[in-house]
Amino acid sequence: MPVDIATLNGPQAEAVQCTEGPLLVLAGAGSGKTRVLTYRIAHLVEDLDVAPWEILAITFTNKAAAEMRERLQGIIGPRCRGMWVSTFHSMCVRMLRADAERLGFSKSFTIYDADDQKRLYKEIMAELDIDPKRFPVNALMGRISQAKNELIVPGDFEKQAIDPVGKVAARIYTRLQERLRAANAFDFDDLLVYAYLLLKNHPDVLEAYQERFRYIMVDEYQDTNHAQYAITGLLAQKYKNIMVVGDDDQSIYSWRGADIRNILEFEQDYPNCHTVKLEQNYRSVGNVLAAANAVIANNQHRKAKKLFTSAEDGEKIHVYMATDERDEGRWIAGEIEKRRSAGMSYNQIAVFYRTNAQSRMLEDMLLRAGVPYRIVGGTKFFDRAEIRDVMAYLTLVVNPSDDIAAKRVINVPRRGIGKTTIERIEQFAREMGMTFMQGAELVVLDPELRASTRRAVGEFVELIKEAQEYSGELRRVVEMIVDRAGLISALTNENTDEARGRIENIQEFMGVVDEFSQTHEEDDAEFAAPTEGDAVAGDAEPVRVLRGDSLADFIEWVRLRTDLDTMGEDGKAVTLMTVHSSKGLEFDCVFTAGMEETLFPHMNSVNDAAGIEEERRLAYVAITRARKVLYLTCAQQRQIFGQTSANPVSRFIHEIPAELRQTSGLGSAGFSGTGWEKRGSRRGIAGSGTEAGGGRVFGRSSASGSAGRGDRDRAGRSGHTGSSVHGSGGYVNPKAGKKEAAGVTFSVGDAVDHKTFGRGKVVKVDGDTLHIRFAKTGQTKKLLKDYAPIVKI
Ligand code: ATP
Ligand code: MG
Repeated sequence: MPVDIATLNGPQAEAVQCTEGPLLVLAGAGSGKTRVLTYRIAHLVEDLDVAPWEILAITFTNKAAAEMRERLQGIIGPRCRGMWVSTFHSMCVRMLRADAERLGFSKSFTIYDADDQKRLYKEIMAELDIDPKRFPVNALMGRISQAKNELIVPGDFEKQAIDPVGKVAARIYTRLQERLRAANAFDFDDLLVYAYLLLKNHPDVLEAYQERFRYIMVDEYQDTNHAQYAITGLLAQKYKNIMVVGDDDQSIYSWRGADIRNILEFEQDYPNCHTVKLEQNYRSVGNVLAAANAVIANNQHRKAKKLFTSAEDGEKIHVYMATDERDEGRWIAGEIEKRRSAGMSYNQIAVFYRTNAQSRMLEDMLLRAGVPYRIVGGTKFFDRAEIRDVMAYLTLVVNPSDDIAAKRVINVPRRGIGKTTIERIEQFAREMGMTFMQGAELVVLDPELRASTRRAVGEFVELIKEAQEYSGELRRVVEMIVDRAGLISALTNENTDEARGRIENIQEFMGVVDEFSQTHEEDDAEFAAPTEGDAVAGDAEPVRVLRGDSLADFIEWVRLRTDLDTMGEDGKAVTLMTVHSSKGLEFDCVFTAGMEETLFPHMNSVNDAAGIEEERRLAYVAITRARKVLYLTCAQQRQIFGQTSANPVSRFIHEIPAELRQTSGLGSAGFSGTGWEKRGSRRGIAGSGTEAGGGRVFGRSSASGSAGRGDRDRAGRSGHTGSSVHGSGGYVNPKAGKKEAAGVTFSVGDAVDHKTFGRGKVVKVDGDTLHIRFAKTGQTKKLLKDYAPIVKI
């Protein structure tokens, strides 16, 4: 069935139909760039008989890749399976899995994430006697990461390093690459570097990919870094059928090495390039678009763009001036409930913030109001210690040379292998030129070690070896590790709330394993050889089957899950995320919290013009995510980063013409004393906003806790342990008057209804804490009676 070009406007259709030669689509937010890219793929496959596996589509996040694949599935059906629709990093992993040997690595390499990497840095710094107080590890990591993104190898880096930090970084960089190689591991940046080297230094590999990917498309091209630019350049060199889409106004990753010049100079890189501009915005109502246009117009360094919409004006931009961050969060929760009562789905609502540190308070307030939310970023499920332990075990099964993983878990759970033994193994391995695991295997024979220690090390080595035999059977090997290593039983013995939370997380992990197994079957098709219908005469073996055993695939899948991927479609919930992660997405209703100077724009950027321009682009991204309603909130004073600060309203709010704004809260008096005085009695109104939606009264007390947070964790998000208590204890609200607590008393046996967990029964009352067993899950949860969204029934 031909692709329906009629649903596109003129320039969009032109871009879709321009299939040969280089093509640049440079256009503002919401103008349909991603849609054009998707339609163009469909057009190639459906109307021009291009084989799906000849197409390479690169997106910025895994989430965007999944969405694009879904949209393609909708237009062209299962034929999209052989296509590579992925992020740069995923693409590089696939390339390296196929040819790692060419670079002296084995196919079973590990990918180090930030945490692994930090451990390695610390080890190297200790080894080289570098003082982390003088040279903070984050600064060094940043420096080296930047070099990698610019494809600067250690030798050149050393030559260029003139300042003290640079010189120290140069020493570390050299050692880091040795250590990574010895561990058969890549860090995130290495994936790009080595994929580039593979293509650059192995002409046969490059040619195979050039022949394969006749059509290359890159979304969000304005945020590519030099390494990504170079890889794309190599792949497109031969046929030059490359389409890039982007918006210079949305370049927001320069701190991670993204180079806006990549898009601005595309026309120079490909002189016969065709350029299409899109000017109609289909996403947002008039007022939102006008606000976005007004803000971005303040940037000096940009290509001027026009963007219009034929949509109605919609509501004005809601600006709320809160007294503090709690008031802000509470008000947002109330507005969310109002929108929800008016028929908007939670899924269509998002709350953005500039820094991750803001999320905790927002979460707290949503939790109290019983607003379901999912958080993108922050401390993720996969970052929790117990999950990292299981992952380290699994990694070790696949790649026994991964010393970092081995050292992480050799004594987890505690089995009497102390620091001295570990150092002994390490030293022995170093002397013998072995991996840590090989060293451990031999140390077992060392008569100087205690028999019990030898036994413990022996059992550990044995467990890993045995698990290796089953590495093709994912679930079995995970169960085996969890059982045999005694991870759960050790936690059970601890018998604390925290340990129970950890057990739940490990159990949740089994759910992740199952989720992978289910989606993996589908994924497989993507890697399999093309079906007959897709085959093109003359091309032998055009698709490599890259998937190895399923444990290795699983680990890779977990490692590549970026923040955005924790955003499941299951269950309706409000999305909380940083502005950075919101790129490319859209929601009916968007809140951006913390619109104050030093927060947004961020204090790190306020002193330099380029920094401010990037912050403004970020504001432009935030505003343009909204389809119908946009809220911007700020607080007169805020506790953040461990201190209280009071800052003026963000310049980005002032840059929105006053007639487009509607202000409430402290009012047009701004953050002046009178406005604040008047606010006192309104607090109750903010509280009752939540009441209106949920029909319940949620209390506030001076000793605050965060009931239900642990439960939230189970829902697959993030964070802190179930028992954590949050710091509103010191909060004094001078105007709030008496406690709004429901004052309802509960006793054992009472039936209750919880907004999220449903029906349950009180099984124990412990002061303010209720122990409630919920019918649906059979689990007992501890909830604070004045906070939890519960009613007695
Ligand atoms: P961003 O810069 O934020 O990534 P974008 O330019 O990629 O935005 P899209 O996400 O492709 O924009 O499109 C924005 C919205 O407009 C989507 O909901 C899309 O379906 C819709 N849209 C785009 N073009 C049209 C069209 N011709 N007719 C109807 N809707 C359209
Ligand atoms: Mg887009």
